[in-house]
Amino acid sequence: MTSKVALVTGGSRGIGAAIARRLAGDGFDVAITYQSAGDRAATVAKEVETAGRRALTMRAEAADAPALIEAVERTVRELGRLDVLVSNAGIAPYGPLEEVTLDEVDRLLAVHARASFVLAQAAARHMGRGGSIVLIGSSLAERVPYAGWTAYAMSKSALIGLAKGLARDLGPRGITANVVSPGSTDTEMNPADAPEAEEERRLTALGRYCSPADIAATVAHLAGEGGRTITGASIPVDAGVTA
Ligand code: NAP
Repeated sequence: MTSKVALVTGGSRGIGAAIARRLAGDGFDVAITYQSAGDRAATVAKEVETAGRRALTMRAEAADAPALIEAVERTVRELGRLDVLVSNAGIAPYGPLEEVTLDEVDRLLAVHARASFVLAQAAARHMGRGGSIVLIGSSLAERVPYAGWTAYAMSKSALIGLAKGLARDLGPRGITANVVSPGSTDTEMNPADAPEAEEERRLTALGRYCSPADIAATVAHLAGEGGRTITGASIPVDAGVTA
């Protein structure tokens, strides 16, 4: 029997790498994309293979729609099917409102919202009953406790509407679509030992950062049997920063 297959964008490090490892541990063959860190993607692929699963790495810029569609098509060609899509690749520029350029706004919308739409549309063509689409959002789509994140929060909020629309479009085919919304998570994007980290911890109910594995555990739940009746939801994994 063919193994189930997951595609994780931005799987070369951070949250995406943790999701790739976790899904491999749960029995999925895993394809990952990266932007520039091919060596790090290869390391994650080796870990997937060490877990006994097949791996595929692909360079795919998230703002490049044809590259994303090709990543989906290549996953199906080389690994045989597609059961789970995790749209995770992301960027986190921030700064004073008056200094945000339209190019930066367009890039955020392209990398987060447009890429997730393109990937979901392409993936849905190949998914059967039991398919799962997971969009990695942000607690900043629910609550913005600091200045300087307007454009980022706007780009992540779009994923909530996208998941709800997908849930209705794809529900009749037995495919689920959800957002997992991390709070402060210890990665290169937001290291837990950075100067501002203490303030981020203070704003949470639990007084702590999330680990990439914490986010991956919820993605794995949605991708597995436990997620069969969860769709159109935005699930916070944020140590209670939005409580
Ligand atoms: P990270 O450590 O900076 O990793 C980002 C990943 O995305 C890398 O694999 C990177 O590839 C890839 N990537 C970045 N820009 C890309 C682009 N334009 N095209 C294709 N791939 C691209 O970030 P992270 O913390 O794991 O974040 C993962 C997701 O979680 C993002 O969507 C982020 O917004 C969200 N999130 C993170 C936090 C947090 O506190 N860390 C909180 C809320 C939400 P390369 O390695 O090749 O550069």
